[in-house]
Amino acid sequence: MPTVLVVEDESDIREVLRRYLERAGYAVLTTGSGAEALRLVETSAADLVVLDLGLPDVDGADVLREVRSGGRTPVLVLTARSAVEDRIRGLRLGADDYVTKPFSPAEVVLRVAAILQRSGGTPEEAAAPTFGGGRLRIDEARHVARFDERELDLTPTEWGILAALAGAPGRVFSRYELVNRVRGYEYAGYERTIDSHVKNLRHKLGPDGGTVVETVLGVGYRLGLRRDER
Ligand code: CA
Repeated sequence: MPTVLVVEDESDIREVLRRYLERAGYAVLTTGSGAEALRLVETSAADLVVLDLGLPDVDGADVLREVRSGGRTPVLVLTARSAVEDRIRGLRLGADDYVTKPFSPAEVVLRVAAILQRSGGTPEEAAAPTFGGGRLRIDEARHVARFDERELDLTPTEWGILAALAGAPGRVFSRYELVNRVRGYEYAGYERTIDSHVKNLRHKLGPDGGTVVETVLGVGYRLGLRRDER
């Protein structure tokens, strides 16, 4: 029976999550304290952590970072912050998924099951698609990209551009399309800023950045690497 650790300082939410998770067949540990959560992660062998980002004693983001640095325990983040950037930040810190409050407890149970299913099979690292003979690796679930075995420290926009291009290697994306992929909506005046994000992304990729993210003159950009067969 998988063990789920619920870290949430609001006791109503904590208890309703406990009930739903137990009913779904999980062993459940709970705490309202970030400090205790860190201790429980070390000692309890939790299979998954449901983590509220807004905790009274420790910033939830710090707890997330600690859990991440300690190993591969998956984390589902609960957040009251609805801003897109905050969600992306949560994922970049290594959350496997997030739900925004108010949420339905049934939804949380579904997400927990999905994450455990993903992490139970092939390790995600191995399952992530690679490009250019293994040079570029894109792990969508964790929002991590590696090039020549080096983890790239990307902004959410750079990550969005790279993930979009890698979704269809060789296909040319116009700046307009990239803006839509990255921002989720049309944003007048933003198209030109794509160029500077691409410039920064190439810089982080290193000397071959310009061949990984190719310019197609007058049209846009494309991934210059083939997706590897698996
Ligand atoms: Ca809270």
